Amino acid sequence: MTRPFGFQFDNSYTHLPEDLFSRCPPQPVAAPQMVLFNHALADTLGLDGDALDSPAGASVLAGNTTIDGSDPIAQAYAGHQFGNLTMLGDGRAILLGEQITPDGARRDIQLKGAGRTVFSRGGDGRASLGPMLREYIISEAMYGLGIPSTRSLAVVTTGESVLRETALPGAILTRVAASHLRVGTFQYAAGRQNPALLEALVDYTLNRHYPEKNDSDNKALALLDAVMDSQIDLVVHWMRVGFIHGVLNTDNVTLSGESIDFGPCAFMDSFDPDTMFSSIDHQGRYAYGNQPTITQWNLSRFAETLLPLIDENVDSAIEKATAVIKSFSERYSDKWLAMMKKKLGLFGDDPVDEKLITDLLEWMKANQADYTNTFRDLTGEDFPAGRSYKDDDFINWHQRWQARLGRNQKPLKSSRCLMRNHNPAVIPRNHRVEEALSAAEKGDMSVTRALLDALATAYEDRDPDDAYRQPPAPEERVCQTFCGT
Ligand code: AMP
Ligand code: MG
Repeated sequence: MTRPFGFQFDNSYTHLPEDLFSRCPPQPVAAPQMVLFNHALADTLGLDGDALDSPAGASVLAGNTTIDGSDPIAQAYAGHQFGNLTMLGDGRAILLGEQITPDGARRDIQLKGAGRTVFSRGGDGRASLGPMLREYIISEAMYGLGIPSTRSLAVVTTGESVLRETALPGAILTRVAASHLRVGTFQYAAGRQNPALLEALVDYTLNRHYPEKNDSDNKALALLDAVMDSQIDLVVHWMRVGFIHGVLNTDNVTLSGESIDFGPCAFMDSFDPDTMFSSIDHQGRYAYGNQPTITQWNLSRFAETLLPLIDENVDSAIEKATAVIKSFSERYSDKWLAMMKKKLGLFGDDPVDEKLITDLLEWMKANQADYTNTFRDLTGEDFPAGRSYKDDDFINWHQRWQARLGRNQKPLKSSRCLMRNHNPAVIPRNHRVEEALSAAEKGDMSVTRALLDALATAYEDRDPDDAYRQPPAPEERVCQTFCGT
């Protein structure tokens, strides 16, 4: 056992009741090889990136070498998957430990694809290269877009194949998270019919994510309220950039408010609230426009788990929890409106604002306008030639918008600045992600690296003709995305 590379573990989760996890070392793999390493993230974690980005580091991040202070566990959790409650748990992910960063933050370091655990059911505990690179790209894109998200430290190939529909190269992702507490963690604890377990989890979650709520009179209710706030902020961000998570099951809803699990997720090109890509979402349950509603549904499942702690009296517990859940719609709408106003550079309140926004969205939908480019084009000084902003409906809308901008109590420069910070020029468009993954499959990582570079500066001005700003040509369009489990 060694403690090089700057690892500084302190494993608070292992002090929770043992019902909540199972100790379990990663299973060594044949031939670990580093294919992608995030030096900037390593720095913020206090890790020695130069030392880790090496064969010895690959061995650590494949689970072949044990780091002193690591106490590997698989976490127990349940989850509503497309509406049905199932027992899940980390079937292919192993938490190495909690890294204490130089600025005192606590970050889970987890290996995804690290081998079988007691929660693997029929699965092999492994992951393949494509989906792990996909998670790396999307999670780092989220970070570049300023959206709370788990992050990716590295992808290591294992030198083994995993058998899916065909044999695929095996890989392990190092996922970094504020924590892996999920709504599903509480659903699991509630299912154990042991109030002490739930109480321990409430205390733990408050301490870790919402310490300012620690002395609330009703901790469980305060936690529900705080998680609702974080989740509303998160889904408002997703709506802002056209992100569709794709599998918003309760096990994929974090209590920290970070985006997690980037399986069949995708970004929308042309605007349509019904947009969805996931091959397993047959009813469009997790379509773009349904995300706020489904988030409220997921929070209701969270509230249910907390009832015994909210009030001894069941009826008043339900009454108190329901009041919080019911506040979702108004809280969401307020934050959504505030966000959309920033996308349009609007300061102050004006009675026309909401209609101005919905009319633009309607125009975009009717004209299959690109969501990202339309807002970014509005941000610039003039419209790029060659894009279709010439029909009467748009011209009329544009005049109303200009009039509203004129009523801003701030200079136009401030509006443009606000818009530039809320309307990205670059998103990880599906066809670009697919292009990067197919090159990687052939051993060429340069396309992935170039895409990651562009995503790291998502809000910087780019020429309208820039390759990363182009929507897919008809033949490039990706219509379906897959989980890759
Ligand atoms: P996910 O789709 O990644 O959210 O996974 C849903 C559940 O399936 C979790 O409990 C995972 O741990 C489990 N799972 C996914 N893939 C595998 C695999 N290859 N082996 C074992 N368990 C898996
Ligand atoms: Mg999951």
